[in-house]
Order: sequence, then C-alpha cells, then structure tokens
Amino acid sequence: MKVLIALGGNAIKQANETGTAEEQFRNIRKTCKCILEIVKLGSKVVITHGNGPQAGNLLIQQEEGRTLVPPQPLEIVGAMTQGQIGYMIQQTLWNLLNNAGLKVPVIAIVTQVLVDENDPDFRDPSKPVGSFYTESEAKKLMKEKGYTIKKVKPSGERAYRRVVPSPDAIDIIEKEGIKRMVDTGVVVISSGGGGIPVVLNEKGELEGIDAVIDKDLAGEKLAEVIKADIFMSLTDVNKVKLNYGKPNEKCIDKMTLAEAEKYYQEGHFLPGSMGPKILACIRFLKFGGKKAIITSPDKAIKSLEGKDGTTIYPK
Ligand code: ADP
Ligand code: MG
Repeated sequence: MKVLIALGGNAIKQANETGTAEEQFRNIRKTCKCILEIVKLGSKVVITHGNGPQAGNLLIQQEEGRTLVPPQPLEIVGAMTQGQIGYMIQQTLWNLLNNAGLKVPVIAIVTQVLVDENDPDFRDPSKPVGSFYTESEAKKLMKEKGYTIKKVKPSGERAYRRVVPSPDAIDIIEKEGIKRMVDTGVVVISSGGGGIPVVLNEKGELEGIDAVIDKDLAGEKLAEVIKADIFMSLTDVNKVKLNYGKPNEKCIDKMTLAEAEKYYQEGHFLPGSMGPKILACIRFLKFGGKKAIITSPDKAIKSLEGKDGTTIYPK
C-alpha cells in the first residue's frame, strides 16, 4: 500500500504559538508518531507539508534584516522552508523509526513544481504572505519592489499585506528521482509548501517565479507520480462538514466521488482551506486512486480502518 500524507499547518505549528524551534519539534514529534504507525502497517509513505507560518516568519526576517544582508526572493524562501521543515521531519521520524527497530531511510527532497505563466491567478494574485503594512509602507513597497499589496483587513493601521499568485500545480520536476526512491522503500518528504513554483522560459530552462502553490494540490500531483493507493490530508478537523458553519452543519463519514463533486460545486467547502483539499481528493480519485481521506493526525490510523475521518471512494 502506498500512502501520500499531506500535513497541514497544525502538524508543525499551532495557531497560538510563535514558532520557536522547540514548539515546532514538539508538534512534529506528535505528528510523526502517527506517521510511524502507518509505516508500521507496511505501507510505503510519502509526506508533503505546508509552510505558511514558517515562510511568513522567514519573509519578516528578510525584510527586517535587509540593511544587514540582502533579502532573498520568495522562491528561495520556499527552498529554505523546505529544508527547514524537511530536516525537522526527517530527524524526528528517523528517531522514532530507529527506536522502533525499523531501519528505514527518510529523505527530504528540495522540490520544484511546474506552473503555467498564463495561470489566471498571475493576473489577480490572491494569496497573502509575510508582514502586515501601513498604507504608506504598502505604497512605498509597491513602487520600489513592484509588489502587489492589498488591504486584507477592513480596519486597523496595519491592514495591508503582500499578495502573490497561487497558480495550479502542473508537474513535479524531480518526479523520476522521487519514484525510484519510493520504490526502494525510502520515506520521502517532498513538495513542501506546495513546492517551489517554476516556469519553463523560452530557452527551455527552469526559472523560479514569485508565487505560492497550494500544498494539497501539489501533494495530489505527487500522489499521481508515486501511483499512491491512498491520498490522506491531515489537518485540524477530524471530519469534513456539510453546511459548514451553519446551524444544519453535519459531519461527513464517507462519500463517493460523484457526491464530493456535487457538494464541491454547491460551495460546502471554503476556498483556500477545505476547497483545495476536496479538489485534490477529486483529482486523485479520477486519476485512479483507491480512496482519499481527510482527518486529523491523531485519527489517521482509525481513518485508514474506516472508523473515523472522512473517506471519499471512487464509487
Ligand atoms: P491546513 O493547514 O491543514 O491546510 P486549512 O486551514 O487550509 O488547514 O484547512 C482546514 C480548515 O478548513 C478547517 O480548520 C476549517 O476551518 C476549514 N473548513 C472550510 N470548509 C470546511 C468544511 N466544509 N468542513 C470542515 N472544515 C472546513
Ligand atoms: Mg490549507
């Protein structure tokens, strides 16, 4: 059994935390204990993860330190957080596997994900990143840096934030290497933060581009690459809901692909959060995946047994 596990923000940093190394390692250890149980089932596991809070903090460091050392662009911040989070998972999971007597290699791969320069999100960027600015700071940065900055809060002095495009994931550049590693039993960590977005230039060469890819959609491409049986998105809710946030809200235990598509079109899953997760599940099942699961890390094993979480089946 091959399982693609996409880790949400809460697997690495809780909403009320600032993001110290200790906090992140503590959260990752909890998550990795759940992943260990999946490896113990004899599954081949590939892990992907978000990087929102880490990239946000790193962007602040780029800006605050700009008088001391040159700030790095978004593509490099993406690579840096893949290394950072990859390292933390790689070490923690290796320790847990080793303690359990399992000599399984765990390897994080800096991953590039191909996007289309003509993706509509490049024309109207939607994804907020980094610091909050005042109106005058925002104007200055727009002029000097060419950033797109939007008002993201209705009031308050610091209501402005840089927004970047969030294009769809088309292909995983390192896919051949990833496939070979997974087939030989390596636990691979890949496409962190949705991967580093790259485009092919007119010379046919790869080039990084200022954008942020949704990690569930990039994770689904990764699931196709490794021909996963199961796509599993681990987040901060243990079940998906219908009529989310309304008085008639209801948990979904299981649904078919056709039902998921219908509910998706009816708008039960919010854009930017549950929406892309469900879309990733839909794409995965259409590709030929056996089942897609959305749940929280602590319910992962029970969900694989069909006793918790939300499972989506082809039929
Ligand atoms: P992650 O970091 O795991 O990707 P997100 O915040 O992007 O987390 O997505 C999970 C969130 O999606 C939940 O905390 C919840 O607020 C939101 N959400 C939106 N629609 C739904 C829904 N229909 N059912 C459950 N949660 C939903
Ligand atoms: Mg998300």
